[in-house]
Amino acid sequence: MRPLSRTYDVCIVGSGAGGGMAAYALTKAGADVVVLEAGRPWDNAKDSAMLTWPYESPRRGASTADRPFGEFDACIGGWEIPGEPYTRSPGTDFSWWRARMVGGRTNHWGRISLRFGPYDFKRKSRDGLGDDWPIGYDDVAPYYDEVDRLIGVFGSTENLPNEPNGLFLPPPRPRCHELLVKQAADKLHVTCIPARLSILTRPLNGRAACHYCGQCNRGCRVNANFTSTNVLIAPALATGKLTLLTNAMAREVTVDSSGRATGVAYIDKTTGTDARVRARVVVLAASACESARLLLNSTSPLFPNGLANSTGVVGRYITDTTGTDVSGFIPKMMDHVPHNHDGVGGMHLYMPWWLDNAKLDFPRGYHIEVWGGAALPSYGFLSGIHRYPAGGGYGKQLKDDYRRYYGASIGFSGRGEMIPNDDSYCELDPAAVDRWGIPVLRFHWKWSEHEYRQVKHMQETFRALIAEMGGEVFAPMPTREQGYGIAAGGTIIHELGGVRMGDDPKTSAVNRWCQAHDCKNLFVADGGPFVSQADKNPTWTILALSMRTSAYITDQMKKGAL
Ligand SMILES: Cc1cc2nc3c(=O)[nH]c(=O)nc-3n(C[C@H](O)[C@H](O)[C@H](O)COP(=O)(O)OP(=O)(O)OC[C@H]3O[C@@H](n4cnc5c(N)ncnc54)[C@H](O)[C@@H]3O)c2cc1C
Ligand code: SF4
Repeated sequence: MRPLSRTYDVCIVGSGAGGGMAAYALTKAGADVVVLEAGRPWDNAKDSAMLTWPYESPRRGASTADRPFGEFDACIGGWEIPGEPYTRSPGTDFSWWRARMVGGRTNHWGRISLRFGPYDFKRKSRDGLGDDWPIGYDDVAPYYDEVDRLIGVFGSTENLPNEPNGLFLPPPRPRCHELLVKQAADKLHVTCIPARLSILTRPLNGRAACHYCGQCNRGCRVNANFTSTNVLIAPALATGKLTLLTNAMAREVTVDSSGRATGVAYIDKTTGTDARVRARVVVLAASACESARLLLNSTSPLFPNGLANSTGVVGRYITDTTGTDVSGFIPKMMDHVPHNHDGVGGMHLYMPWWLDNAKLDFPRGYHIEVWGGAALPSYGFLSGIHRYPAGGGYGKQLKDDYRRYYGASIGFSGRGEMIPNDDSYCELDPAAVDRWGIPVLRFHWKWSEHEYRQVKHMQETFRALIAEMGGEVFAPMPTREQGYGIAAGGTIIHELGGVRMGDDPKTSAVNRWCQAHDCKNLFVADGGPFVSQADKNPTWTILALSMRTSAYITDQMKKGAL
């Protein structure tokens, strides 16, 4: 292994939401930063397929091996990556989605950008389950504000107790199908408000406003939506303070005999050779479970169980969002008069958690995401014409049916809070290694009765909404044996925890600044430090915490404490 002669101020592993924000904030503060990114380069302005018609490809947009969400999708990666396996304990149903490119999963995420609320940081105090965070909403609020100003998010001021307002850009108006959803929600007393997405409805910080092509998952050529790639990493590179090493797969954090991190050992994937960088501070942001894996693989005489793991908590307390979907056919949306369906690549409305748990048989809540209407058709659209009344057949009838039923479906996805449990964790598999010989993760997963009951409630609510719209649900209510349709662990792609934060080093790996208890110049800036999941999508909080941690690193470096 050849050490580089240069010592950087900070080495960051990963360039997704967490790593991109750390690179941005630290280079802007004047630090000399190197980012190790396991994937390949990407630039939305050049590489996005934003304006490609499905008929321009013989595949019509169908998925490929490294683009499971469709061939035009901006994110390279998937549930399985050749040469980079992970394993599951018997009985575990868990899948792990990994990106392998600059910007990570922010290249195609849904941009649903929700702050955690005051209750979300203190759940144990409210219902006795799980654990409280060592910090509260007020500690993170200034960073949420700063993220809003820097990146931009649309939404509406609602003054709800646990869905904090942001510094919002104006939201887009609801589309036709969303107006029908709003009517039904109002009838059923389900709170339904403008969505909160990090898409610009006004120009901001040199970026153009959205022109409503609706293709956000393909990457935006004008960067009107948020990606770490073009909104954080590109300006960090422009400071001249960032060295971005792509195809650099981190293997472990290196330490000296005093237990201080000295840098990161990595594989140069283009040659398959070992290399390393030296740095005064190391920030892991490789995504929650991968950062846990890196820590577990960073063994040394001082840290035989891995770094930041002297009390064995690394890999523990992992969670994913609970989820289930229901979709249906709405006859009154059939044979519609062609109308303007332009909008952002995502919902214009959503339903935050609206009920009181005291009256329910499960703790915590969920929010509802809305989809459907007349989105751009591509391979597999309408997902099975035979499910519509009299739908299907051949030739002219089939074409006519497609025209009649196009735009006449609606769908709801529940996204709820899972409570960490002792049976859901990851560890190093004692036998399996990846193509470079690095031990891989083995996942253990179990939902508790809390999550099953919550998902049953989602199913019942979505079915009631579709009935209220005068529609027919496509599939029958899943039974208890079918887990009420709960999505498998990991498949909502909001995995968090594994490097939990806390004031007590016996029960947590990092402190309230996301700084390892066992190694003062090591930080974690992804979803690893999350203590609980909340019923919010996590990325706005990953960004705010990464910014907060970066401010702390800057301050401590200035004081000579790092
Ligand atoms: C389809 C989809 C939709 C989503 N929608 C939403 C949404 O609407 N709202 C929301 O809040 N969240 C959403 N998410 C989740 C969101 O994308 C993640 O929460 C967020 O990207 C996590 O940021 P991260 O920095 O931890 O990880 P990532 O963004 O995954 O970035 C990690 C980076 O680290 C690199 N890396 C990994 N291992 C190594 C290694 N050993 N060495 C070097 N580099 C490494 C990876 O290549 C990757 O680039 C969605 C995710 C997906 C896939
Ligand atoms: S909908 Fe707007 S933000 Fe999304 S890709 Fe199109 S122009 Fe860009």
